[in-house]
Amino acid sequence: MNTPATATAGPRIVAHELIRTLVAFDTTSRESNLALIHWVRDYLAGHGIGCVLTFDDDKRKANLFATLPAQDGNATVGGIVLSGHTDVVPVDGQPWDSDPFEATLVEDRLIGRGVADMKSFSAIGLALVPELLRRGLTRPLHFALSYDEEVGCIGVRRLIADIAARHIKPSGCIIGEPTGMRPVVAHKGKRSFRCRVRGHAAHSALTPLGVNAVQIASELVVFLSQMARRFRERGGFDAAYDVPYTTVHTGVMRGGTAVNIVPRDCQFDFEFRHLPLDDPDELLAEVKRFAATLVPEMHAVDPATFIEFEQLSSTPGFDTHGGSEITELGKLLSGAHEFGKVSFGSEAALFHNAAIPTVICGPGHIAQAHQPNEWIALEQLELCDAFMRRLADRVCTA
Ligand SMILES: [Zn+2]
Repeated sequence: MNTPATATAGPRIVAHELIRTLVAFDTTSRESNLALIHWVRDYLAGHGIGCVLTFDDDKRKANLFATLPAQDGNATVGGIVLSGHTDVVPVDGQPWDSDPFEATLVEDRLIGRGVADMKSFSAIGLALVPELLRRGLTRPLHFALSYDEEVGCIGVRRLIADIAARHIKPSGCIIGEPTGMRPVVAHKGKRSFRCRVRGHAAHSALTPLGVNAVQIASELVVFLSQMARRFRERGGFDAAYDVPYTTVHTGVMRGGTAVNIVPRDCQFDFEFRHLPLDDPDELLAEVKRFAATLVPEMHAVDPATFIEFEQLSSTPGFDTHGGSEITELGKLLSGAHEFGKVSFGSEAALFHNAAIPTVICGPGHIAQAHQPNEWIALEQLELCDAFMRRLADRVCTA
């Protein structure tokens, strides 16, 4: 499948067709990713490489872990993991100018859902498999493809548990999230929550008899906005991050049914992306303390009203300072002189906490991810391709 693109059609990297193939699978997190996983499984099988799949409870989604063993047969110790998530964020409601699931070349950009976040990295790594096998490896090289990263780094936890159970001990992991091919050794933590407000419905001519859930929820959202402003203006700050302070954000809000009904229900989803120095438990506690001040007035009308919070996801922060073999390798392969820190979360902390030192380094930029017309510059694909080739030169015997 990894035939070179034609002269008129595209970038000068062999992975071009493989990127197009992976993008063509609609792996929006709510969908099954099995078609993509099975394609990669068959691709690797075509090169004599087996895979281990770990599934979600419903067997609708799977992680894939595959090992290219060293020439001496070592498949477990001291290898390098190339890690990418297979899922992408929804395109619903976004004004795309082309089919999001058909990677489209426009001038010096490839456009499509997942081209930056983060199918290109996985494709460029996979495209190199025939060459790696031909040249022979001095140490194992592993591919780790996960599901449900975008909804809280859920899938990879099972993949990591599985490789530990099978006594596979990689010496490091490279996660190809879009960093502009800059090695990144720290990222913020993320917690997301759903808040449900139960009010009391009434005819809108008789508002004092109701408890307006939309208005209560709005007060909470405004409180979150005020917290966001406080962090932006007063910190704490860590200038090494692209956004150098903790951010607070409401992403979804739903409530009410008609303008002439005092709404009974409203819910909204919000998140904290916190610097290591800010404690996410304390941030939530602050919101809950404010919520508690709204409740007496609600209960005065109807004791059944409430405000409740549910945690949707938790991605631990990742805060290392380099210094491991894999971080130095990330620097060497990318040609960077220093490490970066980023605001978006990733699976890095989960690998790191499982004693697998990790660096994040992948093509494209996070600013172009999750957007309509998500794109990646061909130059970034070429830099990633060069990175992988330098990796091959270091891990191959010939
Ligand atoms: Zn990602």
